[in-house]
Amino acid sequence: MLKLAIIGYPIGHSLSPVMHNAALQELGIEGSYVALETPPEKLVEKINFLKDEGYSGFNVTIPHKVEVMQYLDSIDNFAKVIGAVNTVVIDENKKLFGSNTDVYGFVQAIPENSRENLKDKKAAVIGSGGAARAVLIGLIELGIKEIWIFARNQEKSEELKEIILQNFTDIKINCSALEDNIDLAEFSIVVNTTPLGMQGKNEEISPLSPESIATLPKDALIYDLVYRPQKTKLLEYAEKRDLKLLNGLEMLILQGVKSFELWTGKTPPIKTMREALILEI
Ligand code: NAP
Repeated sequence: MLKLAIIGYPIGHSLSPVMHNAALQELGIEGSYVALETPPEKLVEKINFLKDEGYSGFNVTIPHKVEVMQYLDSIDNFAKVIGAVNTVVIDENKKLFGSNTDVYGFVQAIPENSRENLKDKKAAVIGSGGAARAVLIGLIELGIKEIWIFARNQEKSEELKEIILQNFTDIKINCSALEDNIDLAEFSIVVNTTPLGMQGKNEEISPLSPESIATLPKDALIYDLVYRPQKTKLLEYAEKRDLKLLNGLEMLILQGVKSFELWTGKTPPIKTMREALILEI
């Protein structure tokens, strides 16, 4: 019986159980993936519980992605650079291995023909929080030569820039304020890593104005990490210009695919995972 979980706080909104349970069922693997609400003061207790109860691994979400790192026996390089772990494997000796599968999810979600078009191009990243770190590494993997970070918190942008430059030398990074009228004429891809556009209080907000979007080249890709709703205000504006659009759903699925592979050694059925998720969104 394979036991998997996600820990976070609050955890009620998590879409991961539905996606992973659908995959387990389709592959005929006896097991379950459960959401375990874990307030910060219970983190250590919950990790010990997962080890003692014979779990094979777990996902980690807000607010534990950074904090969990100190309790792991080893951490892969991506997770070290990102400074956050979203997947933990527990081996038969109860050792804990941390990874970050967001870079994989971010990169693989981009259709292959678009990926090839990004080599040596310029990318704009909106926001400089946790997801932005994985996005910057993903963009470097894709062969992007210059990245501009547009964010309201310049200090955090500069910090992120330094972290990336310490680990990757062939990339140019610039930081700028997130303003109403940004000239994006030279950018081949724009990635929104803020929660602007997300269902709830931010739903009617786009991180970029229609005027900024109007400056983008006509073959640009607009990639919004938000997946609920599937068409955010940003994507709505970009659609009016007939730009290439991508929301965060495929990234969510593909980071889960990678986690599943790490826990089981098996490739999960992506179509089944996608269908299960879409029913929940
Ligand atoms: P985070 O660490 O809190 O970072 C959020 C970023 O957005 C920060 O730069 C923050 O700026 C900025 N921001 C927040 N509200 C803003 C506003 N009103 N105006 C301008 N900037 C604002 O969060 P995260 O973990 O990176 O997640 C960010 C988004 O990505 C969420 O919507 C999340 O669901 C999505 N995401 C999707 C996937 C996927 O698989 N599709 C994976 C990871 C994340 P400050 O630093 O100034 O607060």
